[in-house]
Amino acid sequence: MSHPYLKKINNKETNQTLVSLRMFAEQNKVPIITETGLNFLNQIIKLRNIETILEIGTAIGYSSIAMALKADVHITTIERDKKMFDMAKINVHNSNLEDRIDILFMDALEVDETTLDKVDLIFIDAAKAQSIKFFEKYETLLTDKGIIVTDNLLFHNLVDQEVKDRNLRQLLTKIDRFNKWVVQKQGYDTYIYDIGDGMSVSIKRSD
Ligand code: SAH
Ligand code: MG
Repeated sequence: MSHPYLKKINNKETNQTLVSLRMFAEQNKVPIITETGLNFLNQIIKLRNIETILEIGTAIGYSSIAMALKADVHITTIERDKKMFDMAKINVHNSNLEDRIDILFMDALEVDETTLDKVDLIFIDAAKAQSIKFFEKYETLLTDKGIIVTDNLLFHNLVDQEVKDRNLRQLLTKIDRFNKWVVQKQGYDTYIYDIGDGMSVSIKRSD
């Protein structure tokens, strides 16, 4: 299944907006979701009839725009970097999605989450070392069909390897801590998938 040709035909991005946003991101080293990861996310949205989404980490708005183009969802997305926020604003405007994507210019750890509406899906894709904090802060907003997806958990499989760089090693330790924490988290069924850069899917238990 991992034949490169199969990968290509399965992942071909056809929407022009998305193609040019991805090109911009690659040229400017903005860490947007992989195409495989995005397809996975879009499948979850379809399969679970997701209508409302909270995203932590907007960057240039790529993932929000991609999800909104694929399904009739409303997205609130939070970004703390002014340059990113400004670009995301323009990109959302140019895609005519302002009525379905709200961008908050704030640090997600400082948002008063009680002012936000409940959501069906939370996509955590911001500072990797803070994923536990984001999870605990925002899980209170989940509806009954709630799902939390977290991105960048396997870091191109570096987590398992020996890493020399000290900062990277510390980051990997924190990601590893999140991975262990999230799979044992009570109240959810969680799996970590080797898709894109590694994604966890936590489905809120109904019992
Ligand atoms: N979801 C985007 C990529 C996000 S990259 C996509 O796939 O298209 C991660 C972003 O999270 C960066 O732009 C970074 O500025 C932002 N970020 C990191 N920590 C944050 C925080 N505490 N609050 C809000 N945004 C944060
Ligand atoms: Mg990511």
